Amino acid sequence: MDGTCLFLGTGASSGIPVIGCHCPICSSRAVHNRRLRSSVLIRINQKVLLIDSGPDFRQQALIHKIDRLDALLLTHTHYDHIAGIDELRAYYFRDKWPVPCLLSQESFQELESRYDYLFERREDSTKTAQFKFQILENDFGSTAIADIPVDYFSYSQCNMKVTGFRFGNFAYVTDIREYGHEIFAALSGVQKLVVGAISKAKSHAHFTVDEAVEFALKVGAHHTWLTHIAHHLDHDATEQLLPPEIRLGYDGLEIEFRI
Ligand SMILES: [Zn+2]
Ligand SMILES: [Zn+2]
Repeated sequence: MDGTCLFLGTGASSGIPVIGCHCPICSSRAVHNRRLRSSVLIRINQKVLLIDSGPDFRQQALIHKIDRLDALLLTHTHYDHIAGIDELRAYYFRDKWPVPCLLSQESFQELESRYDYLFERREDSTKTAQFKFQILENDFGSTAIADIPVDYFSYSQCNMKVTGFRFGNFAYVTDIREYGHEIFAALSGVQKLVVGAISKAKSHAHFTVDEAVEFALKVGAHHTWLTHIAHHLDHDATEQLLPPEIRLGYDGLEIEFRI
């Protein structure tokens, strides 16, 4: 099967431009320097899967005409990855069908405390998004969501567990800071890799560009795109310093993979 990954957003938690910032990147007119919060849309075999639903989801859904969703996959529960989750109510209002949601046990618990009202069982439950949660049992493994097979693996960021997802020869690894060596077994054979990288400067929560490049080289992917990019990186200038097989993602970019 063939699949596609559409980058709905490639920005760090504040997006670019950052509110109130007049730095050269935030003031840039180059379209690739405008980034909504990080999220991707996966299409495989007529199924439409969303990875993360950040604060820009409504805008992303309107830009890319995301008229239906077959599932939501969550990497973790920081604001920039879940703040748009209730926007998925649009699909529930119309279809009266809870969207399957794949996530770790830790993410499930955190979501329950941050969005407790989504979990209330009301008679009239049509005021919010509704989900059918599918909780991952392990840190590494394989499952299926919306009849699409998916491998998953775990790493962490600021003591929060983050889940990465793999479909065939494609993997999405955002918000990565600490990881165990077993991640390379989970990513073995991945040819198209998306990995988070925030800036050139050291970060307690993310890879630097150099660390992301080193990680991608260890994975051995043929093509890598960096995502979750902050306003310190000019798109074109940064790409000039990267090996040709490693590029910066940008909003609206679509790539193909095999599953
Ligand atoms: Zn993030
Ligand atoms: Zn700025």
